[in-house]
Amino acid sequence: MSIRVGQGFDVHGFAEGRPLVLGGIRFDYPLGLAGHSDADVVTHALMDALLGGANLGDIGLHFPDTDVAYKDIDSQRLLAEVVQRVLKAGWRAVHADLTVLCERPKIGPRRGEMAAVLARAFPHPVTINVKATTTEGLGFTGRGEGIAAMAIALLTSTDAG
Ligand code: MG
Repeated sequence: MSIRVGQGFDVHGFAEGRPLVLGGIRFDYPLGLAGHSDADVVTHALMDALLGGANLGDIGLHFPDTDVAYKDIDSQRLLAEVVQRVLKAGWRAVHADLTVLCERPKIGPRRGEMAAVLARAFPHPVTINVKATTTEGLGFTGRGEGIAAMAIALLTSTDAG
């Protein structure tokens, strides 16, 4: 059995008139995130970590934002597709650790919910840990201009060798 790690990072800026979806969970918040898809920054970071671990490039390669098929798409559908492509390439995620960086909304109370929704995309056991931090008022997240997310995933090969 071989193991690999992958990391992902994503940023989306706040925008008016959009729902705020993080880790597949809708937040009651006056601003959403700008983006071609639903702009779920947390799910995008996880997708890139999975693709990275499987040596499959990145989200932009698999789901170009010039493709109208992905306009406002639910990122959970994209995550499920990534999981399938990773499996097809012979890799399976066993654990992912995510960090969400923002001042608001408060992520902590809903992190278990987010982890549970994200885990649904995997047809096999996986643990997903969601953490959140502010940046103490510093930088674009500190100024409330957007949200950043980081992810790391541990993958094992699915073949016996
Ligand atoms: Mg993104």
